[in-house]
Amino acid sequence: MVNEKESNVYDVVIAGGGPAGLNAALMLGRVRRRVLLADSGQPRNAASAAVHGLFSRDGDDPARLRRIAREQLAAYPSVRLLDTAVESAARAGDGFEVTLAGGETARARRLLLATGLADELPAVEGLARLWGRGVYHCPYCHGWEVRDQPVAVLGGDDTAAHLALGLARLGCDVVLCAGGPPAFSEAARDGLRAAGVRVCEDLVLGVDGVPGRHVRLSLSPGWTLERGPCSCIPASGSAPASPPGSAARSWTMAPSRSASWARAPSRAYTPPAT
Ligand SMILES: Cc1cc2nc3c(=O)[nH]c(=O)nc-3n(C[C@H](O)[C@H](O)[C@H](O)COP(=O)(O)OP(=O)(O)OC[C@H]3O[C@@H](n4cnc5c(N)ncnc54)[C@H](O)[C@@H]3O)c2cc1C
Repeated sequence: MVNEKESNVYDVVIAGGGPAGLNAALMLGRVRRRVLLADSGQPRNAASAAVHGLFSRDGDDPARLRRIAREQLAAYPSVRLLDTAVESAARAGDGFEVTLAGGETARARRLLLATGLADELPAVEGLARLWGRGVYHCPYCHGWEVRDQPVAVLGGDDTAAHLALGLARLGCDVVLCAGGPPAFSEAARDGLRAAGVRVCEDLVLGVDGVPGRHVRLSLSPGWTLERGPCSCIPASGSAPASPPGSAARSWTMAPSRSASWARAPSRAYTPPAT
């Protein structure tokens, strides 16, 4: 009998070992499909310390979840895990031939792309340093943690307005930093006004702060906006992880109630009421 883990012919090659790829491998392993799961180890939420909104695992460490999933897969002998990237894939007869980063090739009847997304942050200095630790992208994942706090949302379109309204519904005091004249629909503008969301049209030049403690935004005319523990939520900016490349969209940001408009280095900015 062919050793199921040593043959380089599979029913399915899975590219990507995040939640999608791991769950697919689990289900395929349970029905004795020969599976190769290749993972390059750069999950989208690598910067995040806790997963939220996941049934029975709310607040768990995402790395721990991936580790448990891998341990459980070890019970299924037809599943092979490799910590390597799928570099290329091509049609081969009825199936595919894939080449792994180390040069190994494998054949499969099916190829499952579970390569996730890569977040492309907007060109605001300092944003990347706070990503996942004060700068976030999703009110469903992180909104609860910043409920009732002053927050800022980056973006000047309806997506950003939608995020701002979602955060306002969580009791946040929201400033929407549009970075110029916003392009809201009339409905979005009405909604923002009704929710008391203030709109700031100045460019956001930079963001700094101490993760979990405070975040400071530098605005174009020399204003700064300083607040406490902050979450900064990109309204978008996701691209397929592989192949790379795609346009960034807009983003959101949220600081704490103890925060205030700061006077550094020159004057504190007070956004007008909408
Ligand atoms: C900061 C942050 C916090 C988040 N918090 C939450 C939360 O609290 N709750 C929630 O539900 N969601 C959250 N998310 C979203 C969550 O991360 C994604 O929904 C989830 O990771 C998607 O799983 P996935 O398997 O599709 O992709 P990923 O988890 O990104 O996994 C894709 C995997 O494929 C690998 N890969 C890519 N290309 C290749 C290749 N060519 N060959 C081999 N492997 C490859 C990558 O290295 C990676 O390991 C968060 C996201 C971010 C950015």
